[in-house]
Amino acid sequence: MPMNLTNRILIGMALGLVVGFAIQGFPLPDFFQTFFVETVARGGGDIFLRLLRMMVVPLVLVSLTCGAASLGATGKVGRLGGKTIGLYLMTTAIAVSLALGMALIIDPGLGVGEVAGATYEAREAPDIVETIVKIFPANPVQAMADGQMLQVIVFAVLLGLALNAAGEAGGRVRSFFDDLNEIFMKLITMVIHVTPYGVFCLMVTLGSRVGFAEIAKLGVYFFTVAFTLVMHLTLVYPTLLKVFTGLNPLTYLRKMREPMLVAFSTSSSGATLPVTLRTVEKRVGVSNNVASFAVPLGATINMDGTAIMQGVATVFIAQFYGIALGVDDFLLVILTATMASIGTAAVPGVGLIMLTMVLDQVGLPIEGIGLIIGVDRLLDMMRTAVNVTGDGMVATTVAASENELDKSVFEDPEAGRVYEN
Ligand code: ASP
Repeated sequence: MPMNLTNRILIGMALGLVVGFAIQGFPLPDFFQTFFVETVARGGGDIFLRLLRMMVVPLVLVSLTCGAASLGATGKVGRLGGKTIGLYLMTTAIAVSLALGMALIIDPGLGVGEVAGATYEAREAPDIVETIVKIFPANPVQAMADGQMLQVIVFAVLLGLALNAAGEAGGRVRSFFDDLNEIFMKLITMVIHVTPYGVFCLMVTLGSRVGFAEIAKLGVYFFTVAFTLVMHLTLVYPTLLKVFTGLNPLTYLRKMREPMLVAFSTSSSGATLPVTLRTVEKRVGVSNNVASFAVPLGATINMDGTAIMQGVATVFIAQFYGIALGVDDFLLVILTATMASIGTAAVPGVGLIMLTMVLDQVGLPIEGIGLIIGVDRLLDMMRTAVNVTGDGMVATTVAASENELDKSVFEDPEAGRVYEN
């Protein structure tokens, strides 16, 4: 009986963790330790991450060019862009507010004993004009080589619009891009087949290193972030999806399990992007026009899980140092964390660096980050899973409102599923 991919990824994850924990508890002789953890597991995990990253720029360029060309014909580009960005900002602001509320109820920073600190450099809020100017690529090839996603997105949208406007010549190139898009989707499916092995390797490395002592010391902080992430995933997203679209949120969450698992294991919404895009199109039923724009944009600017960590961390650090925050400070945190989410690169651990910006705005000591760094690895995994689920949720909502969602695909549990014998 063929086993579906989600189950195989789950098995890879569980086995990897068991092996990793076992290695941590009962260290192997040096030779095997080096061979198995440093060579096989780390090498395998890195290859898997590289295969995912390999797909990101080509996929976004081709898929979004096709999407923008179709949208250009309907004249919907502006409206769609406005809706998508508006929803991304709204869900992030809700996420920080929820995090601040939960942290103020649970008080994670009160009564915490000594925690080993680390020094941290403050990150200044970027200049707004420069940030906007830098969205436009001076050299698209450079933008692709550097993986500058916002610049690649702008270039692809403009190229798609030009394809649509260029009559016969546009039509010829357009059909080439459409074919290339199909081929890239196949390529992702091929990469997706190795996911269980990649996840196994990543989990062995994680399990052999995870610091249980730190987690125990910062248990309340850890629990507050984790609990708020779960609340956002299981209450806020489902409610928004139901209210805006009337769709069954459980069906949506079930279909998003694979991107969630890949995001959890890689801690990178950027690396997960090919899997998210494929899932949102082929399993959830969002048209290429909407998915190709909303998903890459979301992976770049929408980080609800990261914003949740930042909200809880701000309250935690304020309480730890005994600094009182007023209502105006909380409003500033909501604003800065929402902006920081836009500026956070979709790779592991950057959310913590961007937290310096939030702390700086409300005058909290940035050394506070040293307190929570020990448990950030695991929280990064969880928040990245929430980040990608939020991207898909907004893409689905926008698609439903624009008549760009294929309900028969959404309702078919088998649609777009990857099987393995
Ligand atoms: N790892 C997160 C992501 O890629 C970003 C972060 O919170 O550090 O979505």
